[in-house]
Order: sequence, then C-alpha cells, then structure tokens
Amino acid sequence: MTRPPLNRRLAEFGTTIFAEMSALAARTGAINLGQGFPDTDGPEEIREAAVRALRDGRGNQYPPGPGVPELRSAVADHQRERYGLAYDPDTEVLVTAGATEAIAAALLALIEPGDEVVALEPYYDSYAACVAMAGGTRVPVTLRPHEGVRGGATDRRYVLDLDELRAAVTDRTRLILLNTPHNPTGTVLTRAELTAVAELAIERDLLVVTDEVYEHLVFDGAEHVPIASLPGMRERTVTIGSAGKTFSFTGWKVGWATGSRELVTAVRTAKQYLTYVSAGPFQYAIAEALRLPAAYFDTLRADLQRKRDLLGDGLRAAGFEVYQPQGTYFITTDITPLGEKDAHAFCCALPERCGVVAIPNAVFYDDPDAGRTQVRFAFCKKDDVLHEAADRLRRLAS
Ligand code: GLN
Repeated sequence: MTRPPLNRRLAEFGTTIFAEMSALAARTGAINLGQGFPDTDGPEEIREAAVRALRDGRGNQYPPGPGVPELRSAVADHQRERYGLAYDPDTEVLVTAGATEAIAAALLALIEPGDEVVALEPYYDSYAACVAMAGGTRVPVTLRPHEGVRGGATDRRYVLDLDELRAAVTDRTRLILLNTPHNPTGTVLTRAELTAVAELAIERDLLVVTDEVYEHLVFDGAEHVPIASLPGMRERTVTIGSAGKTFSFTGWKVGWATGSRELVTAVRTAKQYLTYVSAGPFQYAIAEALRLPAAYFDTLRADLQRKRDLLGDGLRAAGFEVYQPQGTYFITTDITPLGEKDAHAFCCALPERCGVVAIPNAVFYDDPDAGRTQVRFAFCKKDDVLHEAADRLRRLAS
C-alpha cells in the first residue's frame, strides 16, 4: 500500500514539518534552527526535583486525572499572581500532556461537527489537525506584515486585521482559537487588539481557546495580556500554558488549561480518553518550577532577547528581510531580497547550501501562496551555535 489508510478527516495531513525538518538536520548534520526546542536544558534544580520525585516514588503510578494537587495549585497561583486571574485549583485547572494535548482536548470537547473555528493564520500546525479531528471547519484570519512604530523605532510586525476577524465570524462560528505570543510570526497581540477580539466574542457569544505557551517570552518591554483577564472573558475562555517553553523542558510534555469550571470539566472529559493522565514525576518538578523567583523569568527573557538580536543581525547581514518578533523564540523572514521565490525549495536546499535548517512558513497557511517566501528560524540555541549559523547563512550572499 503506498498511501496510509487515513480517514477522510486527516487526509490532508502528513508528517509534521517539524519532524521532517529535524530529520533533515539529523541526516545532513546541519544546524537545526527549524523545530523550536532549546539546546540547553532548563534549571538544574528543576531537573533534580524530577529525579527526587522519581526516587521518592511520587508520581510513578497513575497520578490523579486532573493533575497532581501541587501542580494545580502552582498553576492557579501563577495565574493569580501574574494576571489577577483567580482559578480554583480543584475544578478550574487541568494538567495535560503538553499544550498539544490541551489544544486537542479543548477542541474535541468544545466543538461539534460542522462548527467553524476562527484561527489566526499562519497557525501552529496542530490547530488544523485538531479542528479536523473534531469534525470542525477552520476559518483562517491572516496576520499580515505592517509598518509600525514601537518605542521610537520603525518596524514591520504582523498585525491582526480586526475587520477581517469580524467578517470571518458567521452563525456557525463556535470559537476563536487565539495564539499570543504568536508562533511563527513572533507577534504579541496588544491589549487594544485583544479587547476588540473580546468584544466580538461577547457580542457573538463565542468561546475562546487561547494558546499562551510563550507567555514569558516577550521582549522590548512588550506586555503579555491573557484574554481571559479582560472584562467578560473569564467565563468563555480556556487558557493554555506549557512548561516546555517556560522552563526549557520540551521533552517532559507538561502543559495545562485553566478556565471556568464548566469549560475545564468539558476539556477534562475529552482528556480522560486521550491520555487519562500525564507523566507524574515531572508534574512535581514543574510545580516547583512555577514557584521559581522572578529572576528566573527575567533572565530567560533577557537571554532570549539577546539571542533574537544576535540571530536577527546575522539574518539581516545575510540579506534576509527580518520581521522583528516581540515574543516567542522564532524569527520570521522573507527571502525575496535573496532572489528566492519558494521557501519550501529554499529550506530543502539550505542544509546543502550552507548547513542550516529552517521552516518554510507556507505550511502554516491554508493558501500556500500567502507564505510562499517566508522562512522561520528558531533562536533558542547557544550563542556559539547562533554565531556559526549566522556565518554560514552569510555564504548565501556569495
Ligand atoms: N512548537 C514547536 C515549533 O513550532 C515544535 C513542536 C513540535 O514539533 N510539534 O517549532
């Protein structure tokens, strides 16, 4: 059989671009700036906390379905202390196997076949697959680069067109799927943008699922605003977070969802039949991580901002147009100034041409023409790796 026996709902999906590009990096020995994972593990004391939990027999057998109480209360405290959002750790917090499972469980729980889901495009690849598995229809609203002034400097940032968002909502729309800070563009939605989204959700009685896994990775003083914290939104919003991004342990797959009791109960119902529970010992370690002092989060942010600038300067010197990200650990670029027209072909040839792997953004669009010349680079890597990548990319000019 040459084609796998996939059901119709998944027929348009193959291997994820991240797996494909990481395999290409492994095969060619190229520097992998494709899939977003740090090349340095998170804090040593948190690693040790996981080892301790394993040795002490905490979480080695099925932990409670909603997550261990220590982690649920740490998540609730985090949301309250940072954002003034109060959640009951027993009924309004759910621990999941990474944000990926939270997204899947939320969409499976909250949409009916035929419902429309409005999602920002370019979108993280699992959104399209999960909407499809739930039998929904995705309706993309495209973020576009826009000239703007921030902090006295001109930059081109991807922005949300609120008229387009409004026009995308129909009588069949069930929910808006948000992502801020946004992968792959690095845009951090502003309070004004989020207020407009909130007003629309209230006016049209929509649910919001918001993927905020990069909440701590914001730069240049940008503010991360959880939409759940805006008036009238707590009751209609499921907010998703992940230890993978905040603590640099992407392999542990610890994520969480917070929301009203009704919404979290719905998401938990779906989650029970996906994984039932998530890995126990890591939950205890992440409960400690969420209580690290502010200095941890400040250092993470400052380090990443420096890395953004290091890689951004390298990409500009190599001739790329760079869209300056205010958040995440990704930089989206345009390859048109290099005389290139097709990002997929460009990314497939890049390891051979200069020993670097990146992601073609076209895979994040319904209309591949929309992202035809955009390429995403991850900068969550050691400084010497970023310097070396920048040197290699400069060879493209010659
Ligand atoms: N979220 C990561 C990225 O955007 C990859 C995660 C994955 O491979 N599924 O690169």
